[in-house]
Amino acid sequence: MLASDLPPGDKWRKFELKALGLRDFARVGIDQPLNPFALAEFANLVVVKFDQLKGLSESARKHLLGPAVEAWSGGACALPDGRKLVVLNPTHGRARTNATLMEEICHVFLGHQANRLSIVTKDARGKVMSRDYRKSDEEEAYGVGAAGLVPYSSLKRFLRNGKGTNQIAAHFRVSRELVEYRMKVTRLWHDYKPGVR
Ligand SMILES: [Zn+2]
Repeated sequence: MLASDLPPGDKWRKFELKALGLRDFARVGIDQPLNPFALAEFANLVVVKFDQLKGLSESARKHLLGPAVEAWSGGACALPDGRKLVVLNPTHGRARTNATLMEEICHVFLGHQANRLSIVTKDARGKVMSRDYRKSDEEEAYGVGAAGLVPYSSLKRFLRNGKGTNQIAAHFRVSRELVEYRMKVTRLWHDYKPGVR
């Protein structure tokens, strides 16, 4: 690997290396999209569909798919056999779901210990969210997950070759927001933000 394959900044370089390790493990080439659903099994995650959930009251179901639909992207809980059950919001498209599942996978691969109770906090934009892990673990899981989905060296090459953020997002099956987030944290944004060239 070349030093130029890693982003600037100590933290992001570490995240990138962990993400590349995950991609190696999944045997996907650097420019190929990573399918988190194929990785989930190795992380001992059981992904279930929302409709498969039993024991959820009709009012809870209506709430989760109605007024609260934007407030959650996924939920996880431990199973007695040590595996973890993950439920993904069925109304979020594949791109968002990929990022949510990837974060859950990273928590497992990075060995994060879940809090006994999830903590309800407000995010930077004042939106209420619940956290199942320490704040630094949440940041690492999301950061490594995003790097795994959109590796720095491919992102840089695609941008250099004139590909747009929508095209790159479609290629890696993620949202445009996630591509832009990766561009910002790896400092590619300044040179390649939409409208620069
Ligand atoms: Zn998390």
